[in-house]
Amino acid sequence: MIYETAPAKINLTLDTLFKRDDGFHEVEMIMTTIDLNDRLTFELRKDNKIVVDVEQSYVPTDNKNLAYKAAELMKQNYHLKQGVTITIDKNIPVSAGLAGGSTDAAATMRGLNRLYKLNRPLDELCELGIQIGTDIPFCIYGKTALCKGKGEIIEFLNKPPSAWVVVAKPDLGISSPDIFKRLDLSQSFKVNTYDCEKAIKLGDYEQLCQSLSNRLEPVSGNLHAEILKIKANMLENGADGAVMSGSGPTVYGLTKKERQARHVYNAVNGCCNEVHIVRLLG
Ligand code: ATP
Repeated sequence: MIYETAPAKINLTLDTLFKRDDGFHEVEMIMTTIDLNDRLTFELRKDNKIVVDVEQSYVPTDNKNLAYKAAELMKQNYHLKQGVTITIDKNIPVSAGLAGGSTDAAATMRGLNRLYKLNRPLDELCELGIQIGTDIPFCIYGKTALCKGKGEIIEFLNKPPSAWVVVAKPDLGISSPDIFKRLDLSQSFKVNTYDCEKAIKLGDYEQLCQSLSNRLEPVSGNLHAEILKIKANMLENGADGAVMSGSGPTVYGLTKKERQARHVYNAVNGCCNEVHIVRLLG
């Protein structure tokens, strides 16, 4: 049996530059990982099937599950005959802007690489992974990176300065394609990609907090006022910086001290169905 940990990602920044001919938006975003993890196990089967086992009934177990898709891709690409049972212990909120599905897919690719003793380099897994999702290459490495293109062009950055992260997901569903459709690129919005990159390079926690910015935040926030309320609530209650992750609806706040994080946690706990206090991993 093989075990893999699949950490959630957060966007420190997210900018959209222009709409490409292929319909995707050209993005520029700084992403890092937090220690809010799904845990996956992989076990060889006697037959040739892929079986996904997840406790939560709202997570698909068929080929709509990104871990299933990743296993299918690995089996086809490396001509693997023997099947696998993938068990996912899910802790990352679903449809949250935390790349829960993508990180499970990435962990599956790393896990099967070991289970079948393929010894393929991570770069090769990234090239494969991009076929099922643009966040998968980032998730294969984890760490901290500036991601460009559709999100698949990765420039690694230093580990960010240490911080507590209060992650709050309100009980509402957001469709990423819908948010991108509603995005009006003619409206100006400042995303501090450069400042964030510099803050990470210098290990400057204050500058990092000030640079958190996400171009999709006003779009999702217009649709669901709760998002902006949670952000304001976090900042009023001691977060040094706060921003929405991905296309939302999850908002996170950074603090230097655990006591501060508890304060922020208590302030948003009543209005969100899922709130976690974790650490930046990077
Ligand atoms: P991103 O930040 O990459 O946009 P997300 O955090 O918004 O992702 P996910 O948690 O990946 O969203 O879930 C998006 C959809 O993917 C849901 O409808 C869910 O049913 C489906 N899904 C497929 N595989 C998984 C998985 N392994 N875990 C969670 N959701 C999955």
